[in-house]
Amino acid sequence: MFNALVMDKDEDSGLASASVKQLSVGDLPHGEVTIAVEYSTVNYKDGLCMSQKGGGLVRSYPHVPGVDYSGTVEASSDDRYKPGDKVVLTGWRVGEAHWGGYSQKANALADWLVPLPEGLDTRQAMAVGTAGFTAMLAVMALEDQGMQPGHGPVLVTGAAGGVGSVATAILANLGYEVAAVTGRPEAGEYLKSLGATTIVPREDLNETVKRPLESESWAGCIDAVGGEMLARVLGQMKYGASVAAVGLAGGAGLPASVIPFLLRGVNLLGIDSVMQPYDNRVRAWQRVATDLPMDKLEAMVHPATLSDLPQLGADILKGQVKGRVVVDVNA
Ligand code: NDP
Repeated sequence: MFNALVMDKDEDSGLASASVKQLSVGDLPHGEVTIAVEYSTVNYKDGLCMSQKGGGLVRSYPHVPGVDYSGTVEASSDDRYKPGDKVVLTGWRVGEAHWGGYSQKANALADWLVPLPEGLDTRQAMAVGTAGFTAMLAVMALEDQGMQPGHGPVLVTGAAGGVGSVATAILANLGYEVAAVTGRPEAGEYLKSLGATTIVPREDLNETVKRPLESESWAGCIDAVGGEMLARVLGQMKYGASVAAVGLAGGAGLPASVIPFLLRGVNLLGIDSVMQPYDNRVRAWQRVATDLPMDKLEAMVHPATLSDLPQLGADILKGQVKGRVVVDVNA
């Protein structure tokens, strides 16, 4: 028997609620690899999956959430993995359409796993999680478009959140000037400790302006917010610069003008972590291990246990989680 956070749906109200329960291996859905889970984390999507209606993401109940996890292989019917291997899993709709990592054991398809990269342990891998992995994919996409240190400041929106915190630390470590946008003035010191050179108050960017072009300020942008802020940022990019669109914490709409694309050659790059092909996953995890300073990562971490998760899920949906939560599922 082992512990897991299980969401059950009340048939009368149609609403789901979470509790820590004991399960047996036979309760787990089929998978090629059985993993003794060590750590998981809390992403925005986990907040949605733990909400009463499952955020439109959970397909059936009972359900075990947890989009990301890391741990040790216990058994495998796939040749790529053997008992004792350390693995990390993010994406593939695990924790939403499939049972996830808020559990001391999990079954996965071998295709979903990545061997733990050299230089990271299972706890650090979950301090990174989907948020940090996505931040790395965004940096890589901007580099592929020619972004280099010395071209000017790179803007990070939603900077005190998970994606934003890791993006700030990676960019600063790579030698970029980082302008961090936050709605939490008290997070300024924290962001500077991660390497941000300038703090931009959220109010400076969340008002729409009529002019489609403003002065050219940013040599790149990692945007976790979307909506009006992304629309505004497009008009502030330097000539030929790129924005990596990662998130929608401020809205899924994009009330933008095409003028920045046409007159300044600005690029809008879409970043998806969920269905990212294997080779690029491995490349991104290796880059995380080399380009993200582990002391900065540690400064972002808040430890948690399975029973803390329902509250943390509600908090992240309100934008109240700073940095990264690491869930020790065995604590
Ligand atoms: P967090 O909640 O940790 O961070 C989001 C941050 O956005 C908040 O901390 C806050 O930063 C800012 N924010 C929140 N609400 C608003 C608002 N109304 N207007 C402006 N800023 C706001 O989430 P994550 O970092 O984990 O994820 C960020 C986004 O990226 C989410 O939308 C998530 O769904 C998406 N995502 C996408 C992935 C992909 O594959 N494309 C993968 C992972 C995440 P501050 O307090 O500093 O202002």
